[in-house]
Amino acid sequence: MIIIMHSHVTDDEIYAVEAKLKSLGLDANISRGVERTIIGAIGEERQVHKETLRALPGVENVIRVVKPYKIVARESHQADSVINVKGVSIGGKTIQVIAGPCSVETQSQMDLAAEGVVKAGCRLMRGGAFKPRTSPYSFQGKGVEGLEMFRQAAAKHNLPVVTELMDVRHLETFLEYGVDIIQIGARNMQNFDLLKEVGNIHTPVVLKRGLCATISEWLMSAEYIAAGGNHNIILCERGVRSFEKAYRNMLDITAIPVLKKETHLPVIIDPSHAAGKSALVMPLAKAALAAGADGLLVEMHPTPCDAWCDADQALAPDELTLLVNELRGIAQAVGRDF
Ligand code: PEP
Ligand code: MN
Repeated sequence: MIIIMHSHVTDDEIYAVEAKLKSLGLDANISRGVERTIIGAIGEERQVHKETLRALPGVENVIRVVKPYKIVARESHQADSVINVKGVSIGGKTIQVIAGPCSVETQSQMDLAAEGVVKAGCRLMRGGAFKPRTSPYSFQGKGVEGLEMFRQAAAKHNLPVVTELMDVRHLETFLEYGVDIIQIGARNMQNFDLLKEVGNIHTPVVLKRGLCATISEWLMSAEYIAAGGNHNIILCERGVRSFEKAYRNMLDITAIPVLKKETHLPVIIDPSHAAGKSALVMPLAKAALAAGADGLLVEMHPTPCDAWCDADQALAPDELTLLVNELRGIAQAVGRDF
């Protein structure tokens, strides 16, 4: 941490900062320049609030040297993390597409969806049994019954399942039903109690970016999970709120190379919730892979126009097959397998 003092700072103010740092367990390195005095704080700075120092007389600014996140930082783990989900690797050389409906509706819908996922060549399936809906009057998901339908449909093809956890009270049930990847949705990215709970288990977690979250806030949320001991975290960019009305959310492609630099965790992209329209899914998916994403989370429904939730953005099974085929070329161009 670097503390920059005001131009007219007094010796007493400098010594007061030094004493404060000592009381916080840090050493001080005082450097008196011609115009400014700066104090370098040496030690574990993550536990120190910048405000504590900024409030002292004579202090103009306080700058952190280390990242606020530690375990998830690339600094602490150079190699890319590869998450193994029932023998399917996420974050390695192979691109993974997690596909399936927005929500679990009926057994036959899930059976057909699972067939479509396999036919397209995807190795993981998504589907929401508990749905975060803007309106309390919208379909809220089939709940535990949905987990059962999902499990049955996926088991026939040995597909690992990805589904959203909204409430810590359902965690035990998720584990009983053998959920392979727990999704933490955009609206819960900063539900810290939920993050702590999934941090205490070893089930892989897909952590979606909050609607208005900065990359730093997002990585701090990942750090919450990692701090509990669960390092099986996959980050999912799903578009952020913007002023644009022509599509649902603005897909932050720039986040991909930034995350790749900042963290060793795998990064996947959800073009469906970003676009909000099925016709936009293909170009966004291509851009995501070209920019270095490790995979995609895509909504697909056996009959999109009948979907109970997010019908506009769902691909039909044939469209998913087409998407995967088109993406093979992009994957190859960036040195990845499919
Ligand atoms: C979803 O993937 O089903 C979902 C609700 O996404 P998000 O949390 O990104 O809105
Ligand atoms: Mn959806």
